[in-house]
Amino acid sequence: MRKSFLLILSHCLLNQGVRAKGFTCNKKIQEGMHRIISRHHPPLLQLPCPEFSFLGKREKMTYDQYEKLAGFREHCEKLADGIQEYLKKSGAHCLVIGIAGSPSCSLSRIKVKEGKKKGKGIFMQELEKKVKGEFLDLDYDNPEASLAKVEERLQKLLGA
Ligand code: SF4
Repeated sequence: MRKSFLLILSHCLLNQGVRAKGFTCNKKIQEGMHRIISRHHPPLLQLPCPEFSFLGKREKMTYDQYEKLAGFREHCEKLADGIQEYLKKSGAHCLVIGIAGSPSCSLSRIKVKEGKKKGKGIFMQELEKKVKGEFLDLDYDNPEASLAKVEERLQKLLGA
């Protein structure tokens, strides 16, 4: 029997209002994500935004600043626990979509004091410890290519 599938999205892909102050709405990502969803109708789950749920509307911060922020990693760990519980009950195979460059949700590069470096965001680090599945980034700086990759992977998983 085919295992059920779940597309798990970083919160701001569906609601950019939670992004830090100074970020404008990225319509290419927003519209692209909606297009993919309406084409394929995947079962989906929107992750909580770890930064907004901890700090509310906030200034832009680096990975190092979030690492030093008391209680933030524990907060991410608790959020990841909730997702783990949900997946235990649903038993679905999942594709998790992160956000390149985010100190919390990236799977590829993070913003540090000196610029950018390879690395994963704090929430994704915690989520990867608890959730078995596939993880892929969308990139606000490279919307078309990253949306195409996500759609290709999604199509394969839905057709599997
Ligand atoms: S913390 Fe994650 S969900 Fe929240 S705005 Fe940043 S990338 Fe989006």
